[in-house]
Parts: sequence; structure tokens; C-alpha cells
Amino acid sequence: MTVSDTGLDRIDVMKPWLGEEEAQALAEVIASGWVAQGPKVREFEEAFASGQHAGFAVATSSCTSALHLALVVAGVEAGDDVVVPSFSFIATANAATYVGARPVFADVDLHTGCVTAPTIKAALTPATRAVIAVDQGGVPVDFESIRALCDPLGIVVVEDAACAIGSTYRGQPVGANAELAAWSFHPRKVLTTGEGGMLTTARQDLGERARRLREHAMSVSAAERHASLLAPSEQYLETGFNYRMTDLQAAVGIIQLRRLETVVRRRRELAARYARAFAGVEGLRLVGDPEYGTTNFQSCWLEVGPAFPLGRENLMKHLASDGISARRGIMAAHRQPAYADADSGTAELGVTEWLTDHTLILPLYHELTQQDQDRVIDSVLHAAGQS
Ligand SMILES: *Cc1c(COP(=O)(O)O)cnc(C)c1O
Repeated sequence: MTVSDTGLDRIDVMKPWLGEEEAQALAEVIASGWVAQGPKVREFEEAFASGQHAGFAVATSSCTSALHLALVVAGVEAGDDVVVPSFSFIATANAATYVGARPVFADVDLHTGCVTAPTIKAALTPATRAVIAVDQGGVPVDFESIRALCDPLGIVVVEDAACAIGSTYRGQPVGANAELAAWSFHPRKVLTTGEGGMLTTARQDLGERARRLREHAMSVSAAERHASLLAPSEQYLETGFNYRMTDLQAAVGIIQLRRLETVVRRRRELAARYARAFAGVEGLRLVGDPEYGTTNFQSCWLEVGPAFPLGRENLMKHLASDGISARRGIMAAHRQPAYADADSGTAELGVTEWLTDHTLILPLYHELTQQDQDRVIDSVLHAAGQS
């Protein structure tokens, strides 16, 4: 359905918040003549590391490339198993495949949509070398209990914090204590650089190797070579990648990072309005904070249960007829052709399937007006027979 079919202004599920300051920052980078990875990337990395209480930050071309690098520096290789939630964007599982390992799917918790120590335990195999724990939709994963399970077994826990910038875990930014964490700046996420990602790590040795691997494993970076008239000769220490971010992207990221608190505060206000509006509606359940942390509501998902008069698909159609673009909830990787026929473990994935089939993501973005949000709320309440 198009907007003209409904005669209403369309309300999108997500809109990046970009403005004059970003445009100005881009103009400055262009005027500087250095647009590839350089001083702005370094500045963004430093600001990000300090904001996230992470020791070391390595900017990348995407979260997908950051996850790949994380598994490489963690030493995961062919023959290893990597436990991942099926209930995640497919990049989480793909990262394991890239290093020749086998993604083994674990189920998630009904309330958070995240893996837990028990769901991971149910998926462990003798070959498990790493776990990717996802802060799904921005809800923090209960990281400490997962580390308590995995550390004694020598299993590395990588945090896929793609969605979770601005979320907190036990009073700290998510990822603060992660050995390795990966972040996304895709426009669907809370902070955007167009495309882009970050790898953070508490371990300098892993950070330094990741920094080299991102740039073809060169012993001297291109920016350093450029700094001297007679460029020092470089060596290629191992097989690396081109996973660089550009200074154009980083300049935007620096501005976006300054706004993070404002953005997260606004998102949480909007989510709280949805929560109040739907609190009394039978069959609806909105995602919220777990007891150990706070979410940035990157995905503000709504469960549509059997007590609601419409199923999820029909509620989405109803919203679309009111000019509102909701999205189906988070996917289940084990159902996609890329993995459906693969041997990916034997854990039950009942909660994953339930959430994938019964949730939708509501419009929520910084500039969503109260008036537009009221349109979404009224449409849902109307479907519930309450207005
Ligand atoms: C968006 C997302 C990714 C991929 O991020 P890109 O920056 O687009 O590569 C990975 N994992 C999760 C959980 C995501 O939501």
C-alpha cells in the first residue's frame, strides 16, 4: 500500500536524525582533502571508547565486518562451533560462517528476546569455542551470567551490541566489560554514519590486531604513510581485509555521538507513552527494561498474543491502511534458506519462533511527533475495539 492509497502522511518505522551539524562536518572533511580513514576515524574511535567505557575501539565498515574481525582475533576457526541466537539479524550467524565455523542456534528469553545462560547451555557442544550474545533490539543481554557459564569452559563471549548504543547494563554502558563487542551505525540503528561499525575490546592485544586486520593487515597504516613525504615501506603481516571506515562517516559519527543522550531520552519517553497506552489492552505486550538494565528501544516491539482480536499480520495490515508502516518482529535465522537445511544444533527454538511470529516493531524515532504517535496508538486501540 502506498501513501497516496490512504490519503494520509506516511509514518515510517524508523528515521535517522541527521541535520545541519552533520552536513557541516562532512563539508569540513571534504575541504580537508582527506576523505578515507584518517584523523576523523581516530577521533571517533577515541570518543566512542571513552563513551562506552571500552578500552579500545576500532572503527569498521559495518557491524558485520566488526563481528567477523571479533571472531578472527578470538581465534575461532574451521571446525569450531559458535553459539548464536537464531532470533537475530542474519549477520550474527553469518559471522561464524565467515571464519569457517558452524553457527549453532540457541533460543532466547520471552521477555528480553536475548539469549540467557540456560538457553546457551542447552546449545553448547564439545566444539563450542565462542558465543555471540546479542543485545536484541537494544535490550541488554544478562552478560555476567553468560560469562559465569562460559569463562570456566574457556569459551569466548562476543557481544553483538549492534542495536545497543545508549543501553545500559548494571549501571554501565552495555559492552563496558566485554572482551569483544561489535556495534552498528546502519541507519536503522540509533546512531548512524550511513554504513559503519565499531569493534570494542578490553584487550589491547586483540584491539591492535583487529586494527591491522581491518586495513589489509598492513604494518603501517595508510594515514601514517601519508603523514611522511618519504613513505615508510609497509609489510602485510597476515591475510587482512578492507573493513575501513571513512573520515566522512566518522565525522558524522562524532556529531551523532554527542547527541546520544538526547536521542535515547526521547526514545524512552516515546516508548513509555506506548507502554501506558497499551497497558490495559488484552493480548498486547510491549518490550521493556529487564531488571538488570535499560534499553534504548532501538526496536520497540509489541507482542500480539491470542487474546488480541487480530493476529499480527492483520494488525500490520490494519496499521498500513492507516498509513503506518510497522515491521514484522526480529527474524529467525534458522528458518532462512541460508541455514534452514544446515546442521545447526539441536536446541529447542520455541520462544524464537513464537516471538518471530507474534511481534511487530512500532514506529519510533527521534522526530516522531506526539500527534503522529497518537495516530499509531489510536490505530492499535481501534483494532483492539477500544476506540
Ligand atoms: C543490524 C545488525 C547487525 C548488522 O549491522 P551492519 O552494521 O548492518 O552490518 C548485526 N547484528 C545485529 C543484532 C543487528 O541488529
